Amino acid sequence: MEDIVCNGCSLLCDDVAAGVSGKTVNSLGLCKLGHMHLETALTHSVGSNEKNLEKVADILIGAENLLLYGWTHTSNEAVREGLGLAATLKGKFASSTDMGAMKAMAHSIHSKGLEIDLEYVRNNGEFIIYWGADPSESLHRHPSRFAVLPRGKKIPEGIESRTIGVVDVRQTETMKMANHRLIIHPGSDAELLNIINSELEGKSSIKGTVLGIPGSELVGFISGLQKSDCTVIFYGSGVVNSGNHDANLTGIAKLVEALRSNGKEAYALPMFDKPNTMGVIKATLTGKYETNSLQRLVAGEFDTVLIVGEDVLANLPGPVAKALSNTKIVYVGPPGGLTDNRALVSIHTMDTIITGLGTMTRVDMNDIQFKKWKPSKEDVTIISTLIKLKELVNKKKS
Ligand code: SF4
Repeated sequence: MEDIVCNGCSLLCDDVAAGVSGKTVNSLGLCKLGHMHLETALTHSVGSNEKNLEKVADILIGAENLLLYGWTHTSNEAVREGLGLAATLKGKFASSTDMGAMKAMAHSIHSKGLEIDLEYVRNNGEFIIYWGADPSESLHRHPSRFAVLPRGKKIPEGIESRTIGVVDVRQTETMKMANHRLIIHPGSDAELLNIINSELEGKSSIKGTVLGIPGSELVGFISGLQKSDCTVIFYGSGVVNSGNHDANLTGIAKLVEALRSNGKEAYALPMFDKPNTMGVIKATLTGKYETNSLQRLVAGEFDTVLIVGEDVLANLPGPVAKALSNTKIVYVGPPGGLTDNRALVSIHTMDTIITGLGTMTRVDMNDIQFKKWKPSKEDVTIISTLIKLKELVNKKKS
């Protein structure tokens, strides 16, 4: 077995290994999701793309209003190349971070120094709160690698030294390991945060059931917050995609500030699951890039869409997927999936877990370098394809 880096989710685990013997794929340390991702990626085979490169270049040059979309499954180097290609073609560059993540990262909570890296959480995180985030469905190894199970410098007993709280609108798998489980009405996050913040300031007193939560449970949760020397809130799609992200994130920032004003450490970190959401955000947050691409797609403003690296048709909301299907789709990425099937022309590439080339940015903003390993025979990558496309476009236009 050789060391690899998994890109099955935004944890980009670099403490894992894999090997292939005949038709058997063996892995060490990968979660179920990561192992399945690796097995699928190993079945991909890419032939010669030369003819399709020509066709894609012609379609891109002929586009009247071009959108370059996707990107959260590609490397940081491919994102940079994509931005260059968008400039060459005078197309709009947008990404699937538009669905909540970008707005969340533009919120002032991220300019307040409330973030730390996951190694710090492992060593210091005492009260861990998953708020609208269920790692058992997305970032499988988040609890076992960083936030719940492992021992750390100030966490000598691992899980025994930590308190776990889960706030969600339904029972989740993650709740099974929690000391505090708060099931709230959908859309009441900001209200609950206000109540907790008032309680911490000594301004309210909780009596009876609050927002569907028994008063005693809420009081226990708040007293856990007061006792903890280092609280870390991991907020997920329930917070950022609820249509109320601004009030929710403001409430979380206030909670962190209230805990800090009592002399405790407190932090808030996002839980976006797509492997390189943070890389795309880092590359585009300060630029003038499309942030309302989905509305513009639905309004029929784009006639051609180049989709890079991910099966967006499988994940977009119905009306957007329908509008996208009415455009000329060209696709660059691993074979298979709805988007590849629906595309006029596709250029197939190997997955980054196989090529082992480039970097992606982990959910806590740390860049992770991929590792070359033996099965990486076919180096047809998204980045090499984008470079060739840009050269072809420039040649055809001159
Ligand atoms: S947690 Fe994510 S990155 Fe880590 S092994 Fe599982 S799928 Fe791969």
